[in-house]
Order: sequence, then structure tokens, then C-alpha cells
Amino acid sequence: MADRTSRALVIGAGVGGLVSALELARRGIEVVVLERAPKVGGKMRQVDVAGRAIDAGPTVMTMRWVLEEVFSSAGTSLDAELALRRAEVLARHAWGEGPTLDLYADLDRSVEAISTFAGRAEGEGYRRFCAYTQRIYDAVHKPFLCSERPSLGSAMVAVGALGLQGMLSIDGHRTLWKALGEFFRDARLRQLFGRYATYCGSSPFLAPATLNVIAQVERDGVYLVEGGMYRVAEALARVAERLGVTIRCGEHVTELVVSGDRAAGVRLASGERLSADLVVHNGDPAALFEGMLGATGRRAIPAPAERSLSAVTWAFVAEARGAYPLTRHNVFFSKDYHEEFRDLFERGVLPREPTVYVCAQDRDDGDRAPPGPERFLCLVNAPARGDQRALTTSEIKQCETAAFSLLERAGLVFPPFAAPPVVTTPSEFNRMFPATGGALYGPASHGWKSPFVRASSRTKIPGLYLAGGAAHPGAGVPMAALSGRLCAKAVIEDLASTSRSRETVMRGGI
Ligand SMILES: Cc1cc2nc3c(=O)[nH]c(=O)nc-3n(C[C@H](O)[C@H](O)[C@H](O)COP(=O)(O)OP(=O)(O)OC[C@H]3O[C@@H](n4cnc5c(N)ncnc54)[C@H](O)[C@@H]3O)c2cc1C
Repeated sequence: MADRTSRALVIGAGVGGLVSALELARRGIEVVVLERAPKVGGKMRQVDVAGRAIDAGPTVMTMRWVLEEVFSSAGTSLDAELALRRAEVLARHAWGEGPTLDLYADLDRSVEAISTFAGRAEGEGYRRFCAYTQRIYDAVHKPFLCSERPSLGSAMVAVGALGLQGMLSIDGHRTLWKALGEFFRDARLRQLFGRYATYCGSSPFLAPATLNVIAQVERDGVYLVEGGMYRVAEALARVAERLGVTIRCGEHVTELVVSGDRAAGVRLASGERLSADLVVHNGDPAALFEGMLGATGRRAIPAPAERSLSAVTWAFVAEARGAYPLTRHNVFFSKDYHEEFRDLFERGVLPREPTVYVCAQDRDDGDRAPPGPERFLCLVNAPARGDQRALTTSEIKQCETAAFSLLERAGLVFPPFAAPPVVTTPSEFNRMFPATGGALYGPASHGWKSPFVRASSRTKIPGLYLAGGAAHPGAGVPMAALSGRLCAKAVIEDLASTSRSRETVMRGGI
């Protein structure tokens, strides 16, 4: 238990902020969360279209064990707080008017489906690929995902200790795309598994092959949350409040207050000043570097690396028509993946032919259509330049036409929408998540060094900590939650060491 008089301020009620808050509160720290938006959740948010709430942020829930641990350490359980069901179909994948391919939670079913789709050798390639991604997962799970960010030096020592076999299993020195060539000859399959790099906003042509681990994470289980993903944010906030956390929405933190060398509180847009023993920043760490929390905050972290991807999203209500058999998660691939990523990362423009993700939120993983109009979220990747230039209306319209034409080619047709869709662009994401340019996953994971230069829980300012998807261990709901836990762990360790040094009297002075 920490010192009961310790007081923490958490800037931001995203997943990482909420998890750090409840982890600190359960250890007896007084916690106040300050969130600038009117509601908790951050990127996990809902929008209202025609009176219906649509998840407009994360839609794919994985790594169930993370939420299990968070809720159980808070004295409750995942099952008591949320209803989750494991999906049998992970996603349906389409390439124009050609046949579709489903990936399943069950390995043998996926091997069968891939064999029918692309031949027996590709099915067996997938079996080998799964064994390979399992090896990566085993190698990175404890030392990386569940531990404080290693430095480059300590990582070298750790990797050295793993021996040659361990080093090979991490597969950090070639690109994800290159590694896929070892398992799949069919270009469509390389594209399908290459897409996992975009789950952390990166390019398969630049990300290290280690990120193939994401395929394993999905195979371990994709879960459907009853009532929608936003229920997760609500549950985290509810449990945090039960533990005594105060959550104040509509409070924009404009300045980090530093006294002596330490973070000592914050100032709000209203002019109110709050003091604290420690501050957790759940916004993008780039906001500190860019001076958005005052000049002193700038020295908290080194310059952030290249930004990850942003997106353009359409949330809408419609009746789907056409022959395409919609399921919950659907991916429609572009013809030329190389060009798509050149547009995104080299030219910094919207892809001329984007890959499109469609989440049919009123369907489960079966094919049965609900009666009447359904809720959809449609997403294409976009460059994170929302702070430099807003996309023009005609650029957005062009992108929409390209995206919805691709769906039509695959047999998914939407009639003109009865109510206007809610369209979110990189500029809008940048407005909601300052200093990101609209990047949704912090820095891109490009190059083998990227995991070691990501911001970690501790900053250069004592008493100032980071939690969230832009910090270690990475983006996505479960990873942001893990980051919140690591942040709380660092706080507790530091408080314990400070109180130990306060209490210890040693002969001969300090
Ligand atoms: C469209 C989209 C689709 C996604 N799909 C998936 C998916 O399918 N699966 C998945 O796992 N992940 C997905 N993600 C990523 C996932 O949503 C994020 O990684 C995760 O939710 C980030 O949590 P976070 O802790 O970093 O906080 P954030 O969500 O970034 O929230 C930070 C909070 O801090 C607040 N804040 C910032 N600055 C201040 C300030 N100065 N004062 C007060 N408050 C402040 C912000 O308002 C915000 O609420 C998706 C994200 C988006 C946007």
C-alpha cells in the first residue's frame, strides 16, 4: 500500500488513463482524473447517427486476459462488469469480385479455408506461420509486453540471454512483409497478414517482422462486447469510481506545474490550479514535447519518432444490399498494397485506392442480417497530417467514392444514406487528441529499434508519468491498458523508494 496522503492527477480518461487511475486508487492513492472531452474513453468513443450510438473507435477486442487481470485486481471480475463472447470468425476478407476468405479462431478451420481459397501448400504455410507467430509471442510476452520498456542496451543483454534461438524467434531484423514471403506465395495472403501492421498504425513494408505477433494475438481470441466497445470504457470508469477515483470531464489541462524539479500539479483552462504528488499524462506524449502543457513539460521526453497512421471513418446507419455476405468484421483489399503505403507514408496523401474495413455492429460473427437498417463503421487509413492541412471536401468525397466503389465491386452496396454519416478525418482526430496530427497509435513501429525508443512510463521530470497507447508497450486497447498498469507500478516503486529513503537513518549521514 502506498502512502494514503499521496494524491495523483491523471490527465485524460482514455483506456490507459482509466487503468492507471484504478490501479493507483486500489493501492490507496487519492486520484483525480481530468478529461477535456465531455465523456470518458478517449479514442474509444461513440457517435450518434439517426439517434443510434455507433462505436467510432476500436471495434476489435483482443487479449481478454488483460481486462481480466485489471478487473480482478480491482476486486471485481470481467464477467461481473462486461459480457464478452468469443467470435468464431475473426474476419472476412474480400478482393474485388473474387472469392472471400474467412479466418477462424480454430486453426484447422482456417487451414481448410486457406487451402480451398489458395491451395493446399498455402494452407500448410499458414500452419507454419501460426507456429512461428506463437514463438514470437512466447518470446515477447513477459519480457516486453508485461515489463517496463527495456532500453536498447538492456534489450541487447536480454536478447543475448535468449541465445541464438531466442533472437531468431523475435525476428526483428527483417520486415514483416519479407517474413510473410517465407510462408505464403499467394499475394492476397501476404496482403491479408501484412495488414496486421496497420493495427499499430504502421506499414508492413517498414515494420519489423516481430509484429507478426499480432496475428497470434487475434488467433488467441477476438471478442464481441455486448452493447458495443464503449461499454469497456464505461466499465473501467465505473470500477475506478467505485475505488474512490474522482473523474472530472470537460476539464482541459493547459499546464503542468513543476515545483523545484518535480511535477507538482496542473493548471486547468478555467484557471483552477490543482496540486498533487504526482501527475500521469494519458494524452499523446508528443503534446508534452510540443509545449502544449507549458514550457517545462517540453523536457519530459525526447523528440517523438515518425507518426503512425491516422484514418478517415464513416459512421452510418443503412440497409446493406448486394450479394456480399456481411459478417461483423470485413476487410476489402486494394489492388496494389505497395502503392497504398507509398501514398500513406511517402507521399503523405490519402490512398487513391484504399483498403477498407467495415464493421457491421448489429451482426455477430454469423451471417444473419438483423431486421431493418444497421449500424456501420467504415475505415480507411490516412496519413497523420491533420495538424498541417485539413483535407478538402473534394478529397474526402474522392476517398469516399473510391472506398464505396471497392465495396460495390465485392457485392456490398449501400443505398444513399437516410441520415448524413458522421465522418471523422485526421484534422478532427488531431483536434480531439492534441499533438497527434490525427495519428491513432502514437509513433509508427518502423525499424527494429522502434520498441526501444517509444516513451516509457517514467519521464525525465520526476513525478510525471505516462500511460496510454502512444507509450510502451504500444497501441490498441489491451496494450494501452497494460501501459496504465506499468505506469501505476512505476509510481508505486518510486513512492516506496522515496518513503524508504525518508525513513532510513544511517550512521554517517545519507
Ligand atoms: C478509429 C479507431 C479504430 C481503432 N481500432 C482499434 C481496434 O479495433 N482494437 C484496438 O485494440 N484498438 C483500436 N484502436 C486504438 C485504441 O482505440 C487506442 O490505442 C486506445 O483506445 C488508446 O487509449 P489511450 O490510453 O492512449 O488514450 P486515448 O484514447 O488517446 O485518450 C487520451 C485522453 O486524454 C485526453 N486528453 C488529452 N490531452 C488532455 C488535456 N490536456 N487535458 C485533459 N484531457 C486530455 C483526451 O481527450 C483523451 O480522452 C482504434 C482507434 C481508433 C481511433
